Amino acid sequence: MPRYEFRCRSCATTFEVDRPMAASSEPADCPQGHGDTVKLLSTVALGGRAGGGAPRPAMAPAGGGGCCGGGCCGGRG
Ligand SMILES: [Zn+2]
Repeated sequence: MPRYEFRCRSCATTFEVDRPMAASSEPADCPQGHGDTVKLLSTVALGGRAGGGAPRPAMAPAGGGGCCGGGCCGGRG
């Protein structure tokens, strides 16, 4: 059974509801009792997850050949 994520606009609570796809468009009640909720994008993505992933260092220095590679820089001690 797919899981849908809802968000309450009254108390800003995000909750998940397990329901069949036939009832995916039906409104869900907030656990706190509020009825003003909106359905968020389904978390059960069929393909891949858009965005996210491991952050890659963009400012990392290139390993191996440095600016001098000899020892003029970095040679400490
Ligand atoms: Zn609520």
